[in-house]
Amino acid sequence: MVFGVAGMPTNYKGKLNGLFPWLTEKGLNGIEIQCTYGFKMSDDNKKLYRERAKNGFFLSIHAPYYINLGSLNNQVVGRSKSNMKEGIELAKSIGANRIIFHPGGGHENTENGRKIAIKQIIDAINEFTSEIDMGDVRLYPEIGGKIASLGSLDEIIEICKKCKYCYPCIDIAHLHAREIGSITSKEILKSKLQKIKDEIPDKFKEIHFHAYTINYGDKGEIKHLYFGDKMPDGSEGLPNLDDFISVIKEMNIVPWIISEALDSQELGAKYMHDLYVK
Ligand SMILES: [Zn+2]
Repeated sequence: MVFGVAGMPTNYKGKLNGLFPWLTEKGLNGIEIQCTYGFKMSDDNKKLYRERAKNGFFLSIHAPYYINLGSLNNQVVGRSKSNMKEGIELAKSIGANRIIFHPGGGHENTENGRKIAIKQIIDAINEFTSEIDMGDVRLYPEIGGKIASLGSLDEIIEICKKCKYCYPCIDIAHLHAREIGSITSKEILKSKLQKIKDEIPDKFKEIHFHAYTINYGDKGEIKHLYFGDKMPDGSEGLPNLDDFISVIKEMNIVPWIISEALDSQELGAKYMHDLYVK
């Protein structure tokens, strides 16, 4: 099981080497390295991560947001493919075996436009993964938080069906936001996960989760909520994390869960960890 944080938690003020014990004392054993500005890392940090990965720490990497395999611009797609290969090399070099990325987009936001884009993304992934030694690295297309962005549950499942190295990154908050507040009960959340189990059974056990509560509007995601905060209208923040952990247990999922709670990543992660082991 892995419970971890997205990036350097806002509440942690020290250097990278102090972060690991800071997380360990909270029961946490994972970090999702945010490569927002590119798959770059100093040799010192590479060494630190590599050592921790060898000693029971679980690393995943979030790809830069400029990666766009679904763009209409061939140059952008070409660059994104080579960027992804750099990411795979970086992941192998530090012992991270999951790369999380957003599929990207640019085609018309119609049923047909989205289909064309998903097909293009699948072809691009199958192309660059055949040109490189993947080692233990697996790629995780993530559910997008905005309705217009590619990455609905069905689209993520489709990519995972057609790409050998792709597994689903289920951001339950994004799913809730892009479906305008769909996850209002434990049963609904369970049915979403059951769909993944039915459609890609061999990949179900390796799901990567992002979990936190979120504010949304009619276009989908607006803002991640601080751990435990209510919605601006005073209602409970959703998806409900207690329900989430109980679904994880009922479905016998070995969790790999990253908390993206606003400025309180470690509080959300610790809360879910403690519920899980209770
Ligand atoms: Zn996410």
